[in-house]
Amino acid sequence: MSPPRFIPGHDVPARPRDTALLFVTRGLDLLVGEREGAIHLPTGSELPALAAEANFLGTLEGVDCYAASLPKDTEPPAGLKLVPARGLYGRVDEALFAVVGRALAISEWDVTHRFCGRDGQPTVLVPGERARRCPVCRTPYYPRISPAVIVLITRGDAMLLARNANFPGAFFSTLAGFVDVGESLEETVVREVKEEVGVELKNLRYFGSQPWPFGRSLMLGFTAEYAGGDIQVDGQEIAEAGWFTPDNLPHLPPRLSIARQLIDDFLARVKARNTPG
Ligand SMILES: [Zn+2]
Repeated sequence: MSPPRFIPGHDVPARPRDTALLFVTRGLDLLVGEREGAIHLPTGSELPALAAEANFLGTLEGVDCYAASLPKDTEPPAGLKLVPARGLYGRVDEALFAVVGRALAISEWDVTHRFCGRDGQPTVLVPGERARRCPVCRTPYYPRISPAVIVLITRGDAMLLARNANFPGAFFSTLAGFVDVGESLEETVVREVKEEVGVELKNLRYFGSQPWPFGRSLMLGFTAEYAGGDIQVDGQEIAEAGWFTPDNLPHLPPRLSIARQLIDDFLARVKARNTPG
């Protein structure tokens, strides 16, 4: 395996920040420049004030990366503009896109934990850790990640996909839901599926995970087989659901998502199963 291109780090290097890449965010937008259709990020020397207070993220192929937030009422500097970070998928290098995700999460954590929730004191950064701490009561504040499960349910050559009432566009996807306090991941999968479509599962298996900084969550993917029950949508979160085979596929989620990876993996398995030889 080739060495990882991005090496995360918390401790701020002693190097000057002039040549560092600055991942400047506001909400889920990123500050970028665009030249002849190509996206580029500002460097520390272009935005010294933002660079000075930015959080170190790590190095991308040896280049220091920092995350900063553009204050709410500040106009983007000349030559730069805010664009939805998610829309950069496929337009920038994959390793760089992953750093954008980290930057969104780190900047959000930094601006929302400036004060202690217990006593209102200003918090300070903790050296050597990704944490802020209250100097009075010592409460630490780490970036928050909300785990969520996502599951592809199959029945022979068919998969159960659902259209979420809140999804942008009318695509059908796998079922997903946030983990409740006190629940195991397996319990979350069973509960969410029961609530959303009313069916029973068997042979639950872990598939893989994907950080999803756009919702500050970590998606934990599973596959499961149908074990019984008729589809009954809850009518609130899920607008409609049904069984889909490779020859009657609906509009599917974007390739970036683990939902699509689960679906594509299943389609490849069905194809291999049904190919003679
Ligand atoms: Zn405190």
